[in-house]
Amino acid sequence: MKHQIALLGSTGSIGRQTLDIMRLHPDKFEAVTLTSNNNWEMLAAQAAEFLPDSVVIANKEHYKALSDALAALPIKVYAGEEALCQIVGNGNIDTVINALVGYAGLEPTLCAINAGKKVALANKETLVVAGDIVMKAAMDKRIPIIPIDSEHSAIFQCLAGEASAPSRLILTASGGPFLNMPAEEIENASVEQALAHPHWDMGRKITIDSATMLNKGLEVIEARWLFNMPPQHIDVAIHPQCVVHSMVEFADGTLKAQLGSADMRLPIQYALSFPERLPLPYPRFDITTAGSLTFSAPDTVRFPALRIAYEALEKGGNSCCILNAANEIAVAAFLERRIGFGDIRRTLEHTLERSTFIQRPTMDDYRASNAEARGIAERFVNAKH
Ligand code: MG
Repeated sequence: MKHQIALLGSTGSIGRQTLDIMRLHPDKFEAVTLTSNNNWEMLAAQAAEFLPDSVVIANKEHYKALSDALAALPIKVYAGEEALCQIVGNGNIDTVINALVGYAGLEPTLCAINAGKKVALANKETLVVAGDIVMKAAMDKRIPIIPIDSEHSAIFQCLAGEASAPSRLILTASGGPFLNMPAEEIENASVEQALAHPHWDMGRKITIDSATMLNKGLEVIEARWLFNMPPQHIDVAIHPQCVVHSMVEFADGTLKAQLGSADMRLPIQYALSFPERLPLPYPRFDITTAGSLTFSAPDTVRFPALRIAYEALEKGGNSCCILNAANEIAVAAFLERRIGFGDIRRTLEHTLERSTFIQRPTMDDYRASNAEARGIAERFVNAKH
């Protein structure tokens, strides 16, 4: 039987690469629902190709344009963020792929878990904001959460078949476009420089996160919840070649790593085919011509966002929710050229200092904290220009 898939965020980078995988294996995967935030034109084209039962456009302004474009096809069209939550509960769906960007991905993940659907998770903010609540809900409902993020997929693959829990996780990081740049130049880096990632083809938000290295910080937080590993047992290693996608260490000192070319379609496909592996007809990493692979400790002086993320994780409570909210505001403001690159870090620190700390947040606390932190970050950013 084919896997019946709801793909949330089908027009983004991960969404489009997920459709590549579905094109390769039409006998295995079927799209039941496709969704987009704003890009109704691409969503209409995808719907015409994949003929899902339904589509959702989160921005209601585009509902009419999308409905008109699909009028001749037997596809239901819905609009609004709240429709995402309703649609993932659809009885036909067995797997929800969450490729949304940012906080917006959290509620649909919870809805999918509560509806008993398997979740393939590319939206790391789901676990950064409310990892404790999300993992507990998944545990209670016995819902597997399969990571799509390449580092977490690597760890997940290293753990497959192991009876023992790992003693340490080592997330690899490319170091981003500013790996060898002096601190003063990083401080004043342009949007173009920050968007020029040397290895991975990703969306704009995550590419900026990669340049500040907060992306790796968010991934440490994600790993903490996904693999139930205390933060002091999660390390980051700079590995500019992007061949080793992450590693695990076991009690006997054995290190296991997952290697491959830097292509997100591999972790996407594994998340869908797990526990099986399917063929993937893309260029292979050739170890005989690879040259050297290097690993080193990250520089948290030039990349303070990584340190800030560890501190937020250690402090616990709603700190990571605050951190994420501040970062979403700061990255958007940087992309709109309203603040400088170095101001992203300042926004994180300012917002973490000013926001209300809650030791044991409920889901409503997280929602309120997200709103409060966004307000604080927004005011800070506006005062900058
Ligand atoms: Mg990643």
